[in-house]
Amino acid sequence: MNRTDQIDIRGLHKRFGALEVLKGVDLTVARGEVVVVMGPSGSGKTTLIRCMNLLEEPDAGTVAICGCSVECGGAVRRRERVRKVRTIRHRTAMVFQQFNLFPHMTALGNVIEGPLSVRRMHKDAAVALGRELLDRVGLTDKAAEYPSRLSGGQKQRVAIARALAMEPEVVLFDEPTSALDPELHAEVLEVMRELAHDGMTMVVVTHEVEFAREVADRVVFMDGGVVLESGRPQDFLNHPVHPRAKAFLRLVA
Ligand code: ADP
Repeated sequence: MNRTDQIDIRGLHKRFGALEVLKGVDLTVARGEVVVVMGPSGSGKTTLIRCMNLLEEPDAGTVAICGCSVECGGAVRRRERVRKVRTIRHRTAMVFQQFNLFPHMTALGNVIEGPLSVRRMHKDAAVALGRELLDRVGLTDKAAEYPSRLSGGQKQRVAIARALAMEPEVVLFDEPTSALDPELHAEVLEVMRELAHDGMTMVVVTHEVEFAREVADRVVFMDGGVVLESGRPQDFLNHPVHPRAKAFLRLVA
């Protein structure tokens, strides 16, 4: 692991029953880097980022986040493993396609839940942080609303504020705009763009080509459980090399 790497994934394998979904994935992400992961449906993108914070248990390989390294599939002592998984989860936050907000909590309640229950922050400090983060995602006036009264774009912005409330070192995004109507994509992508400009390390599974072109430092193309191509956005998007990458970009670009 290079000193500046925030994420270092080596030889990652994952199967669901007979289906081998990840077939040896290597990926490093430097501090402050924004990596967009693209690829056809079913190629293993979601599984890869869920393995990064160990929401899925890889069968083999190494996952290292901010220097905390977990060997997967081997005989590791349980207590040590639990400690490392907890460390990795604290350093990474995830933004899901379907938002996953708590429906019975207000926007502010959703944002401060992690700081209160996981970070054990004092209520006043958590509320101050929550308000600041809702401000940052443009939802100052929605703090008291419940998710059912928010648009999809607003819900996803609350979800981003909630992720940031854990003060992560890395944010993983799993198709953050794909459940939204097209006219709501821009407001979510704008928040993500600002986060990238502020220097957050981000891995984003998305088919948003313009976002990749403007914001990503690197695009990684997956197909069939492996990384087939990786490069700067202008190179990958304008001149893909692999025939499957060319075919994919003809469909999404
Ligand atoms: P992508 O994000 O590229 O669309 P996924 O990582 O979601 O791909 O899924 C890759 C393959 O793994 C798909 O065939 C999917 O059906 C399968 N898969 C994903 N999660 C599970 C699971 N929990 N159980 C069984 N199969 C799964």
